[in-house]
Amino acid sequence: MTPSCDTGLVWLRRDLRLDDHAALYHALKACRGVHCVFVFDTDILAALPRRDRRVEFIHASLRELDAALRAQGEGRGLIVLHGSARDEIPRLASALGAQAVFANHDDEPFARQRDDEVRASLAGQGIALHTWKDHVVFERQEVLTQAGKPYAVFTPYSRAWRAKLDAFYLKPYPVARYLDRLAPVPEGWQAGVPPLAAIGFEPSNLGELPVVPGASGAQALLRDFASRMDRYADARDFPAIKGPSYLSVHLRFGTLSIRQAAALAQQAATGGSRGADVWLNELIWRDFYHQVLANFPHVHDAQGASHSFRPEYDGIAWEQGPEAEALFAAWCEGRTGYPLVDAAMAQINQTGYMHNRLRMVVASFLTKDLGIDWRRGEAYFAQQLIDFDLAANNGGWQWAASSGCDAQPYFRIFNPVSQSEKFDPEGRFIRRYLPQLAGLSGNAVHAPWTARPLDLQAAGLVLGRDYPLPVVDHAEAREQTLRRYAVVKAKG
Ligand code: FAD
Repeated sequence: MTPSCDTGLVWLRRDLRLDDHAALYHALKACRGVHCVFVFDTDILAALPRRDRRVEFIHASLRELDAALRAQGEGRGLIVLHGSARDEIPRLASALGAQAVFANHDDEPFARQRDDEVRASLAGQGIALHTWKDHVVFERQEVLTQAGKPYAVFTPYSRAWRAKLDAFYLKPYPVARYLDRLAPVPEGWQAGVPPLAAIGFEPSNLGELPVVPGASGAQALLRDFASRMDRYADARDFPAIKGPSYLSVHLRFGTLSIRQAAALAQQAATGGSRGADVWLNELIWRDFYHQVLANFPHVHDAQGASHSFRPEYDGIAWEQGPEAEALFAAWCEGRTGYPLVDAAMAQINQTGYMHNRLRMVVASFLTKDLGIDWRRGEAYFAQQLIDFDLAANNGGWQWAASSGCDAQPYFRIFNPVSQSEKFDPEGRFIRRYLPQLAGLSGNAVHAPWTARPLDLQAAGLVLGRDYPLPVVDHAEAREQTLRRYAVVKAKG
């Protein structure tokens, strides 16, 4: 195809790779010369702590991406800016003489608003903004009910998703074929990726974690997971073992293409792998929550406030006041006295990751044992998770709090002790994150307050000193939660 435009600009956001990239592919096909830019957007960065694993992940991934662009030829590379994307993108596009900017969809409300502003500002200069689906397999209104409505229940959605899927939707964009159309970076923009300090950040503990940023990190992890994908269905619920893929951060920042991940799962599932089929289902959950955010934007508005998918749940009276604050702090810091909850919170605090089973357990504990508004947990996860994704996080919290679409019924309340006995039967995960409980034997590791004094002594453990007593009684909290949620039943 003959390029129709001279100069194009690809604006990278949550798609930090060069292969199988929708916007880059379309830009390379349409333009004689293509530049790539990433903006460290001060509108996002200003609110973050100065040590942030995500910023460091992005930073390291950009370094790799810049090197890959430089390897394409003399003078090639990534343009990196630091400022408000709302101003920087139109300014750069104009300075480069670009006729069009290409980017991939981001359906988060903040991003939509930003993109609308950038689109208007570019249009004022006669520059087009073209955007493409890249981050999910099916987006927005691609999978609808027979009545033409977005789905609010997962199982029929997943059935329709699978019925719609064919090879076309998972086909990679053949970017490599056109990379000779990358343009040299003009003077003044050749500096590449600035040091972390130059954008106002310090190293976090990312370097000590088993997280390898960049597309190379994603490919290595995908290969590793492919070799154990068959076992996923049986292993995924046990946090002490290497069951899940740990690919969420790569899917979040697009260092891995969702099409590549889904194609791998689909192929293995077609070949009879149950593990692959169950994993594919998780990728469908990801699409599901993205379409919920796109089609039911009230769940998280552009001002950053979350609302219940089912409005009657916003009538729930959550605990407030100094006692609730103390309980919330105990939850955040892993001091609730329930070992599985505390070990899970230690995992998120130390690593920025939490196993899916544990996300469900701690979210249920916060809302249904402590009676604290799910939005506070959602916000805490948003600060801590390296894979924080607004759609999945909001969906996950609303599932646990029962306020979401297709959520856990409000009267189903996880028992943190039986969850622990079931999913960490030998207490291996607990002991890894709570070494002070390592000496407890048998079932006491799941509920130390039930241990005999002699056993506590043998374990060298004094409850209330080395490890807290439970901050609430689960049975009592359960009754209170049923009363609290009665308002929903009444309104329903
Ligand atoms: P795997 O089990 O290997 O799953 C593969 C991929 O499927 C994941 O990487 C993820 O992209 C997707 N996925 C899996 N489960 C879900 C799900 N329930 N909803 C949506 N996508 C899913 N996931 C995030 O990516 N970001 C979040 O901020 C997030 N917050 C959550 C909050 C709560 C309260 C809950 C209950 C779940 C949340 N999840 C979130 C979903 C899930 O816990 C993580 O995606 C998963 O633990 C990531 O680990 P993994 O990559 O090893 O997952």
